[in-house]
Amino acid sequence: MKKIYLYGNWKMHMLPAEAEAFCNELLSGTAEELYSTRSIDIALFPPYISITPVARMLPENSFYKAGAQDGWFEDRGAFTGAVSMDMIREIGCTHVLVGHSERRSIFGDTDEIVGRKLKQAVQKGLIPVLCFGETLEQREAGQTLAILGKQLLAAWKDIEADEIKGTSEFPGILLAYEPVWAIGTGRNAKAADAQEACAFSRNLFKERFGEHMDCPVLYGGSVKESNAAELLSQQDIDGALIGGASLKVGSFLGIYENYRKSAD
Ligand code: PEP
Repeated sequence: MKKIYLYGNWKMHMLPAEAEAFCNELLSGTAEELYSTRSIDIALFPPYISITPVARMLPENSFYKAGAQDGWFEDRGAFTGAVSMDMIREIGCTHVLVGHSERRSIFGDTDEIVGRKLKQAVQKGLIPVLCFGETLEQREAGQTLAILGKQLLAAWKDIEADEIKGTSEFPGILLAYEPVWAIGTGRNAKAADAQEACAFSRNLFKERFGEHMDCPVLYGGSVKESNAAELLSQQDIDGALIGGASLKVGSFLGIYENYRKSAD
C-alpha cells in the first residue's frame, strides 16, 4: 500500500482548547504502530493562534506534523496582520500552505505573491504545500491544464532545484491540486479528472526540477469518507488536503481508513 498524506486545513476554525481536544482524540485514535507501519503522514494546519498547542502536543519526529495556512514573504517589517515564515517555524511548524484558493480569491494573492511566498518558505526551511486549481468556468471552457500549468510555472519561476531541501525521509515540497469549484461545496472532482490533473502537475514538476525530485501530489476539494477510496487509489494522487472533514477526528481518520480497507 502506498504512503498517504492526510493533511487537514482547519481554515478559521478551532480555538486553542478545541485544537487540544482534537489532538487528544487523534493521538488516542491513531495507534502508532499500525499507522507508522502503514506509512502515513498526517499534518494539521490550524489557524495561527492554535498552532502552538497543536505543535506541542504532536510527538516530535513522528508522522504527525504541524503547519500554518499561510506565511508572508518578507522577514520582518511593517506588514500589519502578516506572520513571517521564521515566526511560523519558531512556533513549531514544519509545513506551510501556499496559494490556497481562499488566499487567492479573498485576500488577493496573485501568482506573483504566491511565487514569492513559495520561495521564502523554501529558503526558510519550511515544507510548502503549493495549492493550485481551476475555476468551474475555466474547466467548462476546457482550460484546466493550461491554467494549472500557468499557476505552477509562475509559482516556482524563481526557485532552483537545489533550493528544495528534501531529505531521504521527507520531500521538500508538496503539490495540492484543488479545483476551486470543489472546495467546500460537497462536490468533488471525478477521480479520473483529478488523476489527470495530478499526473500533469507531477510531470511538470519533474520537467522543471528533474526526474529524481520527489514531489507528492495531493488532491483537495470535498474529500470525505465516501469518496476517499476512489480518489486516493488513483495512481498519481498521493494524499488529500481536507477542509471540512478534517474538523472531526472521526471523519478525518475515516478518510484514510476507507482508503486502507479498499487497498488491503
Ligand atoms: C481546503 O480547504 O483546502 C479544502 C479542500 O476544503 P474542503 O475539503 O472542505 O473542500
